This record gives sequence, structure tokens and C-alpha cells, in this order.
Amino acid sequence: MALTNGQTSNIIQCKQCGKPFRSAGGKLCSNCLDEIEDGFRKVARYLSIGDARTDPDVDSVKELSDKTETSSWVILQLLREKRITLHKTLEGGLTCQYCHKPIASGDACDDCKNKLSEQLFASKSSRVSPLNPGSTKKYR
Ligand SMILES: [Zn+2]
Ligand SMILES: [Zn+2]
Repeated sequence: MALTNGQTSNIIQCKQCGKPFRSAGGKLCSNCLDEIEDGFRKVARYLSIGDARTDPDVDSVKELSDKTETSSWVILQLLREKRITLHKTLEGGLTCQYCHKPIASGDACDDCKNKLSEQLFASKSSRVSPLNPGSTKKYR
């Protein structure tokens, strides 16, 4: 197998299925990405039907998974990436990565996001202004 062409650095293990694949920066292989796209279409269609748009008739990720015939991990991934948004939290759904409170989508609750953006803003502005990145590159 001529797999090693001096370019092994972008072969990584798929975060979802564990298969090695050539990554262009993502963490999932094309099979898993396909599954996400497929799931996205199904879930988005389900959520756009009638009142489901604002209040899906499901209480848990498993229910949504059953109704849309989409794997739970795909639904969680879509919620985390905010490609689908719900107005309520689901059982077995996402939790804030900081305080572990259940959240509807994304990776952090509003409280933690607010705190975080304040901190980010504070640390950024105390370092280098984005308008003046202070390049250390020297010209001869
Ligand atoms: Zn995969
Ligand atoms: Zn939080």
C-alpha cells in the first residue's frame, strides 16, 4: 500500500466511526458527513411540518431519532452545530460544556456564553489589537 506519500499528517481517525481517513480539516469521514447531511434533510423536514417548527412533538433525542429515522449522534451533532434549532431542551440532549445545564442547541448555555464572551473580549483587548497584529516578520 502506497499510503505513505510524505502526506500522512492529514490522515486521522474519524471521530464518530473510528475509521482512518484523509482529512481536509474536519474530524469526520465522508461516510459520517453523508449521514449528517442525510439526517439534516430528514430532521429539518420533520421540524418544518406545522407547529413542529416551534414546538416539536418530541421530548427526547431518542423520540426525535425514531420519528426522523436519524441516528441520535447525528441529531446531537446537528444541534451542536446549530444547523437545527429547537426551542426546548430534549431528554438526552445537549448540555452546557461549562455548567452542564441542559441546553437546546450549541455548546454552552446563554449564561456561560455571556461570561465567556466577556472574558474573551477582555483577554483579546488586553493583548494585541486585531487591527494591529504586531507582526514579527522582518524584511531585509
Ligand atoms: Zn466516520
Ligand atoms: Zn452553562
